[in-house]
Amino acid sequence: MRCIVCGGPTNLLEKKKGFGSSPLKSFSCLDDSCGSVLIQEYDYKTKELSEKIFLDRTKRTDSDIWKRYKYIRLLPDEIERIVSGERLHSLEQKVLEPDICEGCKRPTGQVIELGQKKYCWNCAKTNIEALGSGIMATTSSSFEGYKIIKYLDIESVESIWTPGFFGATDARITDSSGTNNATIEEKLNAAKKYALALLKSKARAAGGNALIGVQFDYKEFFVNYVGVVVNGTIVRIESLH
Ligand SMILES: [Zn+2]
Ligand SMILES: [Zn+2]
Repeated sequence: MRCIVCGGPTNLLEKKKGFGSSPLKSFSCLDDSCGSVLIQEYDYKTKELSEKIFLDRTKRTDSDIWKRYKYIRLLPDEIERIVSGERLHSLEQKVLEPDICEGCKRPTGQVIELGQKKYCWNCAKTNIEALGSGIMATTSSSFEGYKIIKYLDIESVESIWTPGFFGATDARITDSSGTNNATIEEKLNAAKKYALALLKSKARAAGGNALIGVQFDYKEFFVNYVGVVVNGTIVRIESLH
């Protein structure tokens, strides 16, 4: 696989098993000053590696290739055509207005969706707490001093955090600058917190006031990927006193 940004050779890294069990391939440009990484990801629907590959990051963020094709799923022959200088207009990124954070009202490259609203990471951190406030959660099957009066639903939320990649099915936390100062542990905690807050908001929307049997699972872990899945049973509880 040639590097889509500079056309040079890449180094293939294969990950058969991550934290979960999904295989992934990444192609890193051998030119350090280019620093491009292409990713071929696992397709959960076909249960195979996707045919398509996307540009996940590069040091040449001012290049037209980055601006036009970042995160766009491309077939290997489409990548070849782009490297040879062809423009695939139908596949190129639409130029989007930057998202405005609902909290600080400033444009943000980072977009975090909470409920239906978009926030920058800083504002989202404070709102994550608010989103799930008042909903109790436990890993066990009951709460001391409370009785369960109704079982409502089993819900699952997935939160995947990759630099600049909208990779989540329900949740998304991205850093579109592609740079990445947070440690893996910080990201993991953020992804966990975010997934739990979303699950709590689903519990509230479903008419519940608590979650039982809450379980976290780490779905995938590769390069800069952090994936957390949280599931639980939404219930209504009532104090015994
Ligand atoms: Zn390159
Ligand atoms: Zn903000």
